[in-house]
Amino acid sequence: HTKENGGNRFEIYEPALSSKRVERFNMENGLRYAQERGELTLHFQPQISLSTGKVYGAETLLRWNAPGGETIQPGEFIPLAEETGLIVPIGQWVLEQACAECKRWIRAGMPQLVISVNISALQFEQDDFPDLVRRVLERTGIEPYNLCLEITEHTAVQNMEHSVKMLHQLIDIGVKIAIDDFGIGQSSLLWLKKLPAHIVKIDPAFILNMIEDSDDDAIAKAVIVMSHNLGLSVTAEGVETEQQLQRLQQLQCDRIQGFYTGRPMTSDQFIAYFLEIHSWASS
Ligand code: C2E
Ligand code: MG
Ligand code: MG
Ligand code: MG
Repeated sequence: HTKENGGNRFEIYEPALSSKRVERFNMENGLRYAQERGELTLHFQPQISLSTGKVYGAETLLRWNAPGGETIQPGEFIPLAEETGLIVPIGQWVLEQACAECKRWIRAGMPQLVISVNISALQFEQDDFPDLVRRVLERTGIEPYNLCLEITEHTAVQNMEHSVKMLHQLIDIGVKIAIDDFGIGQSSLLWLKKLPAHIVKIDPAFILNMIEDSDDDAIAKAVIVMSHNLGLSVTAEGVETEQQLQRLQQLQCDRIQGFYTGRPMTSDQFIAYFLEIHSWASS
């Protein structure tokens, strides 16, 4: 009735909001064709074994080189890819490409390397996902032990019954399972006990300040001890300093991944990185 109320009806035409919608619409369209236009690229971040100082493997991280030269980080487009379902074909492409790159590394003399690939909730929900994994291993010719699938804790606990069934099927194939982003979800020790997996990845949230913040240190320590007692090994993510590396070694953490030992890099850079570390470690 009043002019003010009338004005409210036009709220949805508020410029900032509608430009956000157009931006999202454009991003969605762009993402739909990004893969066939060759705009998606994979980067690989080294994972280092703390007991040997050698390269354990690498995590595959997706990047989108959008038209116009801008590189879009996964935090910006993975949520949209999940909402639209595009993550299913994109995720399949990532899995195939990552395994194909791993085959190149094996040929270059690194037969034990483990390639890790992030699997989103929607991919994990597909009942034929284990078939896809089997097909990709066959097509690319890598061994099941060369592949690790990362499922976030959040994804895993959404439907425990399905997760346990799916994880058993994947483990039967022989691939490794890592529970990603551990500690920031609705963690429960009981869940970790019930989830068939091999590796727990401690979220950077607990590692980045563990030297300054004794609470974070206590959490990292507890996750490592508990995981080991449950028969799981541990990778700490977000290691940026020498002190963090040394503290994690003291806590008997199995592996680290972080800017300190290597930023995400191209496949060729990763081969050079491996050869350099390996020649140094064995000399
Ligand atoms: P994530 O799987 O937990 O990957 C680790 C993230 O931590 C990466 O961010 C990596 O660059 C970052 N990181 C590594 N070391 C450090 C460090 O020392 N300090 C800090 N501050 N950060 C570090 P990125 O590449 O931006 O990826 C973000 C997330 O996007 C990933 O988290 C993952 O959940 C998702 N993602 C990336 N690639 C894919 C993909 O192919 N498929 C799916 N479904 N998700 C993906
Ligand atoms: Mg991950
Ligand atoms: Mg993580
Ligand atoms: Mg994360």
